[in-house]
Amino acid sequence: MALDSKIQKGPIKDKWTDYKNHINLVNPANKRHIDVIVVGTGLAGGSASATLAELGYNVKAFAYQDSPRRAHSIAAQGGINAAKNYQGDGDSTYRLFYDTVKGGDYRSREANVYRLAEVSANIIDQCVAQGVPFARDYGGLLDNRSFGGVLVSRTFYAKGQTGQQLLLGAYSAMNRQIARGKIEMFNRHEMLDVVVVDGKARGIIARNLVTGEIERHSAHAVVIASGGYGNVYFLSTNAMGSNVTAGWKVHKKGAYFANPCYTQIHPTCIPRSGDYQSKLTLMSESLRNDGRIWVPKNLDDVKAIREGSKKPTELTEDQRDYYLERRYPAFGNLVPRDVASRAAKERCDAGYGVNATGEAVYLDFAASFERYGKEQAKIQNILNPSEAKIKELGQEIVKAKYGNLFQMYEKIVDENPYETPMMIYPAVHYTMGGVWVDYNLMTTIPGCYAIGEANFSDHGANRLGASALMQGLADGYFVLPYTIGDYLADDIRTGKISTESSEFEAAEKEVTERIEFFINNKGTHSVDYYHKKLGKIMWDKCGMSRNAEGLEIAIEEISALRKDFWQHVNVPGTSTEYNEQLAKAGRVADFLELGELFAKDALVREESAGGHFREEHQTEDGEAKRIKEFQFVSAWEYKGEPKDAVLHKEELAYENIEVKERSYK
Ligand SMILES: Cc1cc2nc3c(=O)[nH]c(=O)nc-3n(C[C@H](O)[C@H](O)[C@H](O)COP(=O)(O)OP(=O)(O)OC[C@H]3O[C@@H](n4cnc5c(N)ncnc54)[C@H](O)[C@@H]3O)c2cc1C
Repeated sequence: MALDSKIQKGPIKDKWTDYKNHINLVNPANKRHIDVIVVGTGLAGGSASATLAELGYNVKAFAYQDSPRRAHSIAAQGGINAAKNYQGDGDSTYRLFYDTVKGGDYRSREANVYRLAEVSANIIDQCVAQGVPFARDYGGLLDNRSFGGVLVSRTFYAKGQTGQQLLLGAYSAMNRQIARGKIEMFNRHEMLDVVVVDGKARGIIARNLVTGEIERHSAHAVVIASGGYGNVYFLSTNAMGSNVTAGWKVHKKGAYFANPCYTQIHPTCIPRSGDYQSKLTLMSESLRNDGRIWVPKNLDDVKAIREGSKKPTELTEDQRDYYLERRYPAFGNLVPRDVASRAAKERCDAGYGVNATGEAVYLDFAASFERYGKEQAKIQNILNPSEAKIKELGQEIVKAKYGNLFQMYEKIVDENPYETPMMIYPAVHYTMGGVWVDYNLMTTIPGCYAIGEANFSDHGANRLGASALMQGLADGYFVLPYTIGDYLADDIRTGKISTESSEFEAAEKEVTERIEFFINNKGTHSVDYYHKKLGKIMWDKCGMSRNAEGLEIAIEEISALRKDFWQHVNVPGTSTEYNEQLAKAGRVADFLELGELFAKDALVREESAGGHFREEHQTEDGEAKRIKEFQFVSAWEYKGEPKDAVLHKEELAYENIEVKERSYK
């Protein structure tokens, strides 16, 4: 099948406007006769459901949690980008577009990214109108901070709870429509298959997770907004329930899956503490605005710190290696996530990791306490403040900005990060890959759409911080509501879709048989046993460092593990009650298939991209050489700016990466 991205002709800055001017529309009276299923009510699905219902469509929304408010989006901490240029620091639609494409290692679809940058400003207005309490500055205006990979401050935030506040906004917009009867909300329902009739997505099979009942639901279009699949690694910063099932089911029914192997490895997570951990915790990237990342310069100090005979605070400035500031002076601690993660791993691999596992670097706020404290002393007219007073004043400012994150760190690590530097290490965080979509956000199954983290289109090999919330809300509030109309205009006379067709029957049968298999198998190993084993293969062989041999072994190991799973998995309980293990069995079964595709994708890409090193051969001094293919996806954008390419090459030189250039017209 030839993939057609359906990107509008014409200059990139005019594409979206031209597109909207020429698409088919569905008149308000006809929208009443059209049903849309939205699977997922996080920021992407919640905003889409509310907007489609507001437009007049009949929406059926599904979520496996007990309320849309509990979607994984609620975990988002740091902020949401928008090219508002409130700071007057040189931001623009073009710069946001440019940063996103560069940050994604030039592997994003540019037309989509330009549209994203264009609508970003509308998102902030929309959310402010909903009452989202974004942080404000002294004068009452919306405040901004900076995130990695950019040289401007364009990130809007609500303390360290931006996702929660945005989700409450989307949820209240949804609730208005639920009250009007325009959204029918199916909480605690899991979509287990998509139903394709005459080549078009016409419904889903869902399981009521409380009663176990299998249900058929029909619609004129199906939207997948089911989030990311980072949990294929077992340990990740994602919510425990995040999974690939919805995306995987549409893939198995014919939708293409793109870039499965591009995973974002986030640099600032709380390090793993041992083998019995089931979850990793993110420390927001916003902390890199004020925290400085370092490891000791000397291995003797590393040893003393690990043994507990020295404290990090005892090391003088010249005994510390602020390696990001040293290597990347322009961006300093705010390099893109992939660069920061690779650098942390490189230092730890070289033996400079500061905790017992050797997998941790410091994130230190001492300099910020001093800087803010001195400023506050001046503002408050405190003459000759003591060092202790300066620290106290500075800590108050840092607390106001990131207090909940510091509290979370202390609860998990049992160390006070105001007194000793935080320890951080890279961890799986976001999946740039996902269901392939065209410019309309439609998959290769007509009438089936994918939005938010579930699709692949906007972030290439690496997502810049604060861009996922932007993409989810752009897709849901401002893009899908237009593009879906273009398709649905042909359905105004179709009438209700019956659920009595053979296609619904076959899909339901398949779902039921699989559930019965899990309950009746009575094997010897728990679902988590398999999930954990899969996660280890994924991290060791398909994680930050990859090579052809390891990937080939991973493919074999995952395939063998999958066979073992289908023979020996044990799911306790019954299928007619709330059974978390049963739900998880289905999700892990899908991870076991995705994992293999993931490894195959990584194998055929002979490149380093984003957070992944491809290590191919030994250099003369015995070190593995890392290869990076540096693509110029469309020459028109970049041909005037070779400076940037040179800069990028310099960054890569620090990491012993060989750059192969390719040019595309
Ligand atoms: C700790 C953390 C912090 C983050 N901080 C930021 C940040 O500061 N800024 C930023 O831009 N991004 C951040 N991100 C990324 C961002 O939060 C996510 O990418 C984004 O929220 C995903 O939104 P979504 O709507 O696509 O999916 P989700 O919020 O994951 O929602 C998925 C929805 O799909 C439903 N669902 C899934 N499968 C099924 C199924 N089979 N049947 C029925 N329902 C289903 C779920 O119930 C849920 O409602 C962070 C991520 C993490 C892990």
